[in-house]
Amino acid sequence: MHNVADRSLRNDFANRKVGFAYMLRITFAKLQLLKYASRNIECSATYQLPITTYPKKMDKPNDQWKKELTPEQYRVLREKGTEAPFTGQLYLNKEKGLYLCAACGNELFTSDMKFDSGCGWPSFDKEIEGGKIIQKRDVSFGMIRTEIMCANCGSHLGHIFDDGPTETGVRYCVNSISMKFKADQ
Ligand SMILES: [Zn+2]
Repeated sequence: MHNVADRSLRNDFANRKVGFAYMLRITFAKLQLLKYASRNIECSATYQLPITTYPKKMDKPNDQWKKELTPEQYRVLREKGTEAPFTGQLYLNKEKGLYLCAACGNELFTSDMKFDSGCGWPSFDKEIEGGKIIQKRDVSFGMIRTEIMCANCGSHLGHIFDDGPTETGVRYCVNSISMKFKADQ
């Protein structure tokens, strides 16, 4: 009887010793993790993303988009498709007015920013103001390009290139079907 009690006491002591060592190990691991995490934060703070990213504001389910858009609009805007060049209604549009996102009405460009690039899609040399358009790296089809999307609804607009002929040096190459035109009154 005495022996059993003695043994259990010894076991208890051993367990507690193990428990203490375990706790020490956990604390040490937590400290390491903290050190690693803070180093990561430091890294991400100094790392400059070359491309602007904004969280998209509108989150509409695909079923809803399918109801609101034509099949071709849905393919381009929501599935990142591309319309055939030289076919879009706004490609040769020279009227004064505003170009809006066809999906949500977000104002993207004015007619003063449009120029004839000869590439087959409406082209602009700047956007209406910062924050209306998101840029994202696109490596599809074996090319490295920068995709442009509406910052409000996340819809695909086209791509941006740094070969623009005006002083901005950039070319926003936009699918005509991704935009709605609002003529000046
Ligand atoms: Zn939009």
